Amino acid sequence: MPVSQKTTNRKLLLTPSVEEGPYYTPGSPERQSIADPGTSGSRLVVEGRVLDGHGRPIAHAFLDFWHADGHGKYDNEGYNLRGHQYTDKNGRYRLETVRPSQYMSRTAHIHAKVRATENSPVLTTQLFFPGVKKNATDPIFETLTVMDVADTKDGQKAVFDFVVDVG
Ligand code: FE
Repeated sequence: MPVSQKTTNRKLLLTPSVEEGPYYTPGSPERQSIADPGTSGSRLVVEGRVLDGHGRPIAHAFLDFWHADGHGKYDNEGYNLRGHQYTDKNGRYRLETVRPSQYMSRTAHIHAKVRATENSPVLTTQLFFPGVKKNATDPIFETLTVMDVADTKDGQKAVFDFVVDVG
């Protein structure tokens, strides 16, 4: 199929990739709740779906998340604040964690790798928070991957739908 035709049929913009950065550790545990007890940072739940380019939810899509804690520190020895999971039959994921802080030149962000199926290309990206001052100066910041974030009685809830190339 010519590229132009494929583009014409596509209804949603694919989620842009953002660089992996230096702190990815392969082999994270499978879990939705990734913060060890006592981890610094306020409670954060991220929810959303993995969609194909036509907006169709993808069941059993793979997601791998990792991020810094409330002091801007990564666990580079173990797997705190690291975990992978799969979407449910409606293409939904839910991540229970703490809100990461900025570090060095970086604004607050959550790293993610997302793959629709075993044979699909891996999207490596980063999710950002709205209204963070450092978004303006972080050269890696990406407007298109800013989550919707709302305060709840129990921390914050963020929403983001990934749109991926199924391959
Ligand atoms: Fe990072």
